[in-house]
Amino acid sequence: MRFPPEPFRIKVVEPVRKTTREQRDRLIREAGFNVFRLPAESIYVDLLTDSGTSAMSDNQWAGIMLGDESYAGSKNYYHFVESVRSIFGFKNILPTHQGRSAEHLLFSVTVRPGDVVPNNTHFDTTRANVLHRQGVPMDLVIEEAHDPEREHPFKGNMNTQKLERLLQQEDADRVPLIMMTITNNSVGGQPVSMENLRCVSALAKKYHRPFFIDACRFAENCYFIQQREPGYSGRDIQEIARELFSLADGCTMSVKKDGLVNIGGFLALNDDAWAEQCADLLILLEGFPTYGGLAGRDLEAIARGLQEGVDEGYLAYRVGQVHYLGDLLDQAGIPIVKPVGGHAVFLNAKKFLPHLPREQFPGQALACALYREAAIRAIEIGGLMFGVRDPHSGREQFPELELVRLAIPRRVYTSMHMQYVAESIVELYRNRKAVKGLRIVHQAPLLRHFTARLEEVD
Ligand SMILES: *Cc1c(COP(=O)(O)O)cnc(C)c1O
Repeated sequence: MRFPPEPFRIKVVEPVRKTTREQRDRLIREAGFNVFRLPAESIYVDLLTDSGTSAMSDNQWAGIMLGDESYAGSKNYYHFVESVRSIFGFKNILPTHQGRSAEHLLFSVTVRPGDVVPNNTHFDTTRANVLHRQGVPMDLVIEEAHDPEREHPFKGNMNTQKLERLLQQEDADRVPLIMMTITNNSVGGQPVSMENLRCVSALAKKYHRPFFIDACRFAENCYFIQQREPGYSGRDIQEIARELFSLADGCTMSVKKDGLVNIGGFLALNDDAWAEQCADLLILLEGFPTYGGLAGRDLEAIARGLQEGVDEGYLAYRVGQVHYLGDLLDQAGIPIVKPVGGHAVFLNAKKFLPHLPREQFPGQALACALYREAAIRAIEIGGLMFGVRDPHSGREQFPELELVRLAIPRRVYTSMHMQYVAESIVELYRNRKAVKGLRIVHQAPLLRHFTARLEEVD
């Protein structure tokens, strides 16, 4: 068997209802052809994001009942710290309510106006938090990542030559830290190799810069290292994780991803002085450092979820399910981004709907068609999300790629759901000529994709 079946059985079910095409036609029009405005109840398979959408285990739910809601020193806090330290190993651990708050704390203490922060590729919130400090986020991912059809086992890697050039050019104190995102979400959930991390870590030491990891999907990344990198096959995931984090000085984490919970995050770091400053800010922004904006029961669910997230059987199923969907689509000739990453399959909308010009938002048109025809929600990552209107000419400038992301929530949908998604997309591909383009009728000045309203072009 190529793909492992679900390593769990189902104890509680949440009914999902399939609406009619007529209902969905009305709903998508009412939503202004924006899937963020749809009521979630009208969706059959929701692939909008893998963040905070995981199903918790019976073990985690049992932990929820053991929540100690003491304001300070809750027993769940100690479990949380013990669990985080067993995997990540860092000295100081601060809970936060999401990953972005951990970023906010770290950059508040480290980044000054004009500072440059290199990363393989910044995630949106990381980039926004660097910009918020008037810093300069710099993406230094390898060239291969920009080509949707180029196969590479570690397509999320940092271009270390470019990094070294930056470190040579900039005054050392202008680069407050080096970051690496694993897996590299913004280029398709592509993994980073241990060799690449080792090289970045060595450069950080050579130029005396701290090295931090954006660790949201670290377990999926460790699984790819085990499967693909020479010397790691058969090695334990926890052992790989420990080696990986020993290369860094700290990490930011959204446990809404590989922590298998619905809310939470943390900042972990070795430097005591920075940790103290971050803890002071944490009190101001999130809460006392033993709860950091979370309930005691949340901390317990995280403590347990993190351990389940590094289980090799779970990871083989998790990454296997995403690749199963990718294979079904690829074998049917659907244009997808290759290789398939850890948490999502990306449709290449430019190739899927070649009859639509960029001005008519083929990615958004495809996402809306997928909802109308099959009650599946996906997200456009293309012209609507990243396009910018030139203030002088009024003309749109589009990003290179026009994609639709199918992000797979963890432990939520079965292989039959994946088959349903694949068959629906194949059916839509057969009838792709009928998909109409879209035009914007209302948009906000920033992050327009969340609230924009569009209409069909006849
Ligand atoms: C989700 C995510 C974040 C931010 O985490 P939130 O919990 O959504 O605030 C940061 N970096 C990466 C790579 C992510 O995927």
